[in-house]
Amino acid sequence: MSARAGIGWDSHRLEEGHRLVIGGVEIPEADRGLAGHSDADVLAHALIDALLGAAGLGDIGQHYPDTDERWRDADSLELLREVAGFLAEHGWTVRHMDATVLCEAPRLGPHRDEMRARLSDAVGLAALEVNVKFSTGEGMGFVGRGEGVAALAVATVERGD
Ligand code: MG
Repeated sequence: MSARAGIGWDSHRLEEGHRLVIGGVEIPEADRGLAGHSDADVLAHALIDALLGAAGLGDIGQHYPDTDERWRDADSLELLREVAGFLAEHGWTVRHMDATVLCEAPRLGPHRDEMRARLSDAVGLAALEVNVKFSTGEGMGFVGRGEGVAALAVATVERGD
């Protein structure tokens, strides 16, 4: 059995007129949302890159280019589900994912359990195997100024030799 880990990172700009969708959960109390070609779910995108990285299968931009109209307003949770299936086709089983979302406001903690439930369902894991953490920029940088939201993630996958 071989085990591998991968990392992922993503960031999106906060703008008025967009929904804020993080980890497959729409945050109703947000007054702005993330701009992007898809639903701009920064956490799902970081996790997708962590999974693709662990399996040595490239990155999200290769599989879902933002120049492709098929992915306009795409539900990133469905893309995450598809990527987990893609890994399975290559013999990889997802074992664990962990992530940190960097967001100044609103506070995302109340939505943690729902994010874990949706993300774990998308990749076929128990919710306990998907950890989601939250941090702020303490007023510094693009996160701290509320210009955007970032996420970083790691994923562990296994394959029989
Ligand atoms: Mg993205």
